[in-house]
Amino acid sequence: MSVRVRYAPSPTGSLHVGSARTVLFNWLFARHHGGAFVLRIEDTDQSRSTNAFAQRQQEILHWLGLEWDEGPGIGGPHAPYNQMARLPLYANALQRLKEAGAVYPCYCSPEELAARREQSRRAGRAPRYDGRCRDLTSAERRAFESEGRRPAWRLRLPDDGETVVHDLVRGDVTFAHAILDDFVLVRSDGLPVYNFVVAVDDAAMEITHVLRGDDHLANTPKQLFVYRALGVVPPAFAHLPSVLATDRSRLSKRHGPVSIEDYREQGLLPEAILNYCALLGWSPGDGREVMSLHEMVEAFSLDRVGKAGSVYDVDKLRWMNGQHLHQLDPTELLRRVEPWLRADGLLKHIGGDEGPAPEAVLALVQERVETLADLPEAIRYFYVRPSVFDPAGVRRHFQPSAAPLLRAAAGRILALEPFSEHSLEVAYRALAEELSVKAAVLIHPTRLALTGRTVGPSLFALASLLGRQECVARVFDAAERIESGAFSM
Ligand code: GLU
Repeated sequence: MSVRVRYAPSPTGSLHVGSARTVLFNWLFARHHGGAFVLRIEDTDQSRSTNAFAQRQQEILHWLGLEWDEGPGIGGPHAPYNQMARLPLYANALQRLKEAGAVYPCYCSPEELAARREQSRRAGRAPRYDGRCRDLTSAERRAFESEGRRPAWRLRLPDDGETVVHDLVRGDVTFAHAILDDFVLVRSDGLPVYNFVVAVDDAAMEITHVLRGDDHLANTPKQLFVYRALGVVPPAFAHLPSVLATDRSRLSKRHGPVSIEDYREQGLLPEAILNYCALLGWSPGDGREVMSLHEMVEAFSLDRVGKAGSVYDVDKLRWMNGQHLHQLDPTELLRRVEPWLRADGLLKHIGGDEGPAPEAVLALVQERVETLADLPEAIRYFYVRPSVFDPAGVRRHFQPSAAPLLRAAAGRILALEPFSEHSLEVAYRALAEELSVKAAVLIHPTRLALTGRTVGPSLFALASLLGRQECVARVFDAAERIESGAFSM
């Protein structure tokens, strides 16, 4: 039997970190076993579903690189893949259940149900459906129909006994039937509900394993009743541990941005987001943390998925992003950072005859940043002369005594042959010795003159990328401005 899994989002919002984790686990499980990954859009809740959300979710899945083998856009043997286009299938399944006597029509209006629930609550009883329409005579049904009532269809559940969910993550979980009620499969407006359509579709699409968040665990016994009533073998279930905020409450929007679109805007890389999501409830068991998608596919298994909720930590996500960003090939990094450079206005300064090759600049600074969004600032001085100088740096390194040192350094740079990172370093050390000062006394003001900053990558490496002319111009200019008192206000 080959593995078939699905991700079945409701298009009622943008993809957030918990759902990304669910998609990823399904995708990894399918790829690890050489199975199929199906995408199905669960849009029967028409009051909350929108086509725009469905599109956005699919777009972000493409961006993450989690491609589906069957589903919207590509079709497949079980098309269509959005539930509103599958209504005839559910009508058909309902018809079979009617014929088998597994369901009954319920004429209670939402107001009546709400009033009775409220009564139970006040009497201290669980607010379950009271079974009022379970055994209506045909005369009673006709009477309701003649009042113009349309029925909802409820599944008849046993009153006693229990259902055991054999969960691949949590082990056996037992649900007493006494706590379940005859739930609605099809509402009075004719629309089928989640617990019905999910089982009909998982059966029709030959899904072998359902991997989903543990917020759905309580739905599973209901779905098992639907399978039983339809006479089909249910898939295996694995309920994934909740994703928690640092205060250990369930992660939600109030904890800050949790949608994958937000992370993309913040300059996070898809491979880092996936790597981070993989560790929300799973680990490869050998201490590895930073992993490629390929490595995750190789290592993934459900027996290494834990039961305990996993805490989502945005600092760790950013750290993880840094780890992946540092490993990117600079040509690829340039391709990815281009939208940020464009938005920043820096792109027009890059790639002309002037200025260093952006790949070389990125290679030099990439280890010093965590996200794509950090990069324009990190490389700006390579393309635009600094106009603002770090004030603390100015106080420390642009004292009047620095001007002659900078002039001497500029003279050396001008005459340097060849002009390279290594020769710059040798020249600076020699000059420091001649002037009987520490090399740092030359290096700090030079860095400030070249970059406007007090920290950054190796001075000699960045100077060699800036080029002789530019270095000489910036260092002379700084000396001149120190002498003219431009920094002393
Ligand atoms: N549409 C459901 C959701 O988005 C899917 C649950 C399931 O995987 O069965 O939560």
